[in-house]
Amino acid sequence: MYQHRDHQQQPIDLPSGKVVCVGRNYADHINELNNATPEQPILFIKPSTALCDVNQPLTIPTVLGECHNELELALLIQQPMSAVPASSAFEGVWGLGLALDLTLREVQQDLKQKGLPWERAKAFDRSCPVSGFVPMAQLANPEQLTFSLQVNKTIRQQGDSRKMLWPMTELLAEISKHFTLLPGDLVLTGTPKGVGPLVANDDLRLQMPPFLDITTRVAS
Ligand code: ZN
Repeated sequence: MYQHRDHQQQPIDLPSGKVVCVGRNYADHINELNNATPEQPILFIKPSTALCDVNQPLTIPTVLGECHNELELALLIQQPMSAVPASSAFEGVWGLGLALDLTLREVQQDLKQKGLPWERAKAFDRSCPVSGFVPMAQLANPEQLTFSLQVNKTIRQQGDSRKMLWPMTELLAEISKHFTLLPGDLVLTGTPKGVGPLVANDDLRLQMPPFLDITTRVAS
């Protein structure tokens, strides 16, 4: 069973909730998939059954086309949030970590073309591997974080929270207008460019300096 943990792998006393995800929050990723820039954040939800520990070997579906990495900053919610103002949104957040929004890209393209919901491509079991979380109090400025993903020792994704189209506090304000965030929920804040297929036995390194440096792999 998945359990939220801190960045030193100590369990956090919060349940595993839903995962609210944001699509198209970085201009470079919008361009790489030839998507339009949205007028408001694109929101979708993964269920709690999507959660797993990124430190364990990742299991990805193998018969449904390419499964892509999307490395994203993830916020762990500590207090209920409903229609919170951006100015106080971080007060309800336990901490910040990294997550992979695993995406069956060919399934998603097919669903998008047909105008259908994305859950089959985005919300499957273990589609959301997550790291431990760094307490907000230890982050001097959560809106100025860099993060990266290496696959087989080659940099594939480099993110910088300053380049988000909607900063994290504005995302929390917008999301909580529509979906009440509960303790133990996560918010994923969108992927920078560099999405691509993962295959069996890929070695992954996820970093959010100076707090997180995780090596893991795709299961064989
Ligand atoms: Zn994503």
